[in-house]
Amino acid sequence: MGGIVAIVGRPNVGKSTFFNRLIQKREAIVDAVSGVTRDRHYGKSDWNGKEFSVIDTGGYVVGSDDIFEQEIDKQVELAIDEADAIIFMVDVESGVTGMDEDVSNLLRRANKPTFLAVNKVDNAQREADATEFYALGLGEYYSISSINGSGTGDLLDALVKEL
Ligand code: GDP
Ligand code: MG
Repeated sequence: MGGIVAIVGRPNVGKSTFFNRLIQKREAIVDAVSGVTRDRHYGKSDWNGKEFSVIDTGGYVVGSDDIFEQEIDKQVELAIDEADAIIFMVDVESGVTGMDEDVSNLLRRANKPTFLAVNKVDNAQREADATEFYALGLGEYYSISSINGSGTGDLLDALVKEL
């Protein structure tokens, strides 16, 4: 067991798409415990021979796209408590949102390795658009496409060094 990685961020940025890519054919373990843990999916993954657990957060309880900002904040606090590293995912299509800023503020105060992943960077134009995420004040980011896989190797290389 090489540690725990939590994927956080607002709805529809692509957390579950990335999670499914990470766990590939492995089974996602759906936690049957009620309450906050109901809103999380657990899986196993490995990269460069290092095994780790992945937690996908958000969106499972309500059965719709509605999710309260407090719920996202709660997932971030849980991730800060239990994860060894956090992937904070944002979406280049929508750009920086207020919820992204809110999550950034929580993560900046935490002493936890955090990787900002700008998702949906499917082409070169979007690579340029991704620079707006420097405004979150989290420093360097990883541009990735969870759908086509580009950039995910660099992110995982850096991530497993923290586990
Ligand atoms: P979550 O709510 O953060 O878990 O987001 P999902 O993984 O459910 O994805 C939300 C939507 O974004 C879906 O329609 C995905 O197909 C789409 N999506 C996810 N990753 C990418 C990507 O890398 N590029 C593009 N263009 N769309 C993506
Ligand atoms: Mg999801």
